[in-house]
Amino acid sequence: MPSAVTEYESHTPSGITKFTNCLLVKGNQLVKEDLWISSINGKILKSQEVFYEQRAVPDRVLDLGGRIVSPGLIDSQLNGAYGVDFSVIPEDGAASYGKGVLRVNKSLIKTGVTSYLPTLTSQKAEVYHKALPFLGPSGAPRDPSAGSESLGAHCEGPFISPTKNGIHDVSVLRTAPHGILDLEECYGAANLVSPSPIKYITLAPELPGALSCIPALKTRDIRVSIGHSEATYEEARAGMAAGAGMITHLFNAMRPLHHRNPGIFGLLGTASTTLGYVKPYFGIIADGIHLHRTTIKIAWNAHPDGFILVTDAMSLVGLPDGTYDWTNGSRIIKKGPLLTLEGTDGKIAGSSISLIECVTNFLNWSGASVPEALKAVTETPARMLGLHGVKGTLDPGADADIVILELQGTEAGEKKLEVEQVWKFGQKVFEKNEKLGL
Ligand SMILES: [Zn+2]
Repeated sequence: MPSAVTEYESHTPSGITKFTNCLLVKGNQLVKEDLWISSINGKILKSQEVFYEQRAVPDRVLDLGGRIVSPGLIDSQLNGAYGVDFSVIPEDGAASYGKGVLRVNKSLIKTGVTSYLPTLTSQKAEVYHKALPFLGPSGAPRDPSAGSESLGAHCEGPFISPTKNGIHDVSVLRTAPHGILDLEECYGAANLVSPSPIKYITLAPELPGALSCIPALKTRDIRVSIGHSEATYEEARAGMAAGAGMITHLFNAMRPLHHRNPGIFGLLGTASTTLGYVKPYFGIIADGIHLHRTTIKIAWNAHPDGFILVTDAMSLVGLPDGTYDWTNGSRIIKKGPLLTLEGTDGKIAGSSISLIECVTNFLNWSGASVPEALKAVTETPARMLGLHGVKGTLDPGADADIVILELQGTEAGEKKLEVEQVWKFGQKVFEKNEKLGL
């Protein structure tokens, strides 16, 4: 990338990099402002305080030639990538599973995703017991070379509806007649103790016993998302009243909107001031296959502050077209970005799209501005996860997880966001035209 770098070597190294001639994503605005970051504490700095009070100056100044500086992207639903499926324990055991997760982390960061939630589809209990110890939050060592950071696991099921299972194997789905005890038996009691490796759980609130689990999970700092569910509007509202705060891939694997019963989607129409309800956050898969672009726009218009783009991508991302073995003996057909379950009438089996491509799609389909589109993969998921101020923002004190983007125009007259550089904890870990040996 043709950015000019000025290195200052005459002073004691401060570990500070200053970005200049750039546009910062701040709320719904692009702001022309410099940004100071530190590789010592891995955070975004308050530039004036550093300069005038601590008398520290940057080691280097990067002229970004008008490019966009965004907080690092957050994918709240990633089932696997680069041939690794988080829901599959390899035959040679846990050690090799752990290595697979590290491999994903090191590759994923090159796409601009600096943190994410490794997601498990519905599985037997033994899979959770083996996998979850490897999927918990991984950022504590603050090591930029470790790649993308897990913010904790997302367990999508198995307490979901057998009639809205999508590609989840019906034979492993469960109900929770004994409440939280059933969840402890399934995920492993140790995995439900705070601090848990699980960040949030997708469940269907209408299932026997499910509602009582929601407040019990909240007390353990595990969030609950409604999804893969037959819930009526009333049942979905009961889930919200019990403490759920999110909807998993809105519209997919749930009842469609009916004018006399709006179902789960109806939660977006619940005014926050009435009945004490807040509107939920919700995931949207903008891959051009799961949802019509107008459907996406309706959801965004209904509740822009809850709108979160997710990939729902799986292990086949980056692999050639073909038929691949999947969990529980099923097989998946990959044709371009489309993944379907073999032996069904083209049942969608997840996506193979990158998060920045989802942002680009949304940008072109919705009329949203660049910062509004990026908010759906930065500030909004950070708020949903209780990490606002730490992730998803360029405010001083936040982690210096940063993506430098170039806004390009395509021949078709559309916009395209290209990842040029990625920084993690204040250090550059990827440059588009450079191999950094990650
Ligand atoms: Zn799903």
